[in-house]
Amino acid sequence: MADKYSAVWVSHSSMGDFLKCPRLYYLHNMYKNPATGHKMSIVNPHMALGVAVHEVLEGLGDYPADTRMSYDLLKKYEEAWKKVSGKMGGFNSLEEENEFKARGKKMIENVIKDPKFLVKKCIKLKRDTMPCNYYISEDHNIILNGLVDWIEYLPETDSLHIIDFKTGKNEEKDGSLQLPIYLLLCNALQKRKVTRASYWYLESDKLVEVPLLDLEKAHKDVFDVAYKVKEARKEAGRMGPEKVFVCPNGPYDPKTREGGCQGCRPYEWILNNDDCVEFVGVGGFGQDMYMVKK
Ligand code: SF4
Repeated sequence: MADKYSAVWVSHSSMGDFLKCPRLYYLHNMYKNPATGHKMSIVNPHMALGVAVHEVLEGLGDYPADTRMSYDLLKKYEEAWKKVSGKMGGFNSLEEENEFKARGKKMIENVIKDPKFLVKKCIKLKRDTMPCNYYISEDHNIILNGLVDWIEYLPETDSLHIIDFKTGKNEEKDGSLQLPIYLLLCNALQKRKVTRASYWYLESDKLVEVPLLDLEKAHKDVFDVAYKVKEARKEAGRMGPEKVFVCPNGPYDPKTREGGCQGCRPYEWILNNDDCVEFVGVGGFGQDMYMVKK
């Protein structure tokens, strides 16, 4: 019988790390500090901005559609910001924090001006304390997990519109696994069909609808990467992770502080007790969080 505890869990973030580089995947998703037993995570201002804005918008799904805009969203944003303020958000100065906070405020103001589908019916996928998840392959014991930002219910067709909130400036690249993963989660965890998918770029207030995704192709694209992750982890179990999750740019040298690239350097700094990283607390999923000092 399938066992969720021994399964390999994959998400958009972990597969993104894996596709970027093997060592990055290992350091962010597998390595555990022997002293705390925790994985490690780097906080940064872009992430802090995303967390605060997402908390406000996703939280609206808990209220009936016709009441959502009667709440003071800017006040909710102030509350959400408190959790990422200062070092917890990776901010090196008040000036930097204020700049990011103002960007988020502008996004919330855009939403207040034109809430789009936020005032229409939505649904939520079932979940417990873990993000939404299902077996993308029971044979291979792989679980796909993730949180869909928003799922609009379309009564005319009794179908769904999945939406990803974007707080960054860059548009999502073609070939991103994000919407395919959302599609698979929706398909596995509820009965209605997904007929639309969009990115909402909150800073420019641009809603970009993307072509309808094919379920089989989404499954193949996501499973192919998930399977490679699973195989790499299996090999690491046999040979040791340092032999499998190797940096293509050569190893980081703590003496010269060279080698690798910016992708992994903050994690290498943590492993080498470098002064330029600072522990800031334990995150929601029990990971040790660090910020990079400038
Ligand atoms: S240091 Fe850079 S090149 Fe090396 S594994 Fe990490 S992200 Fe890849």
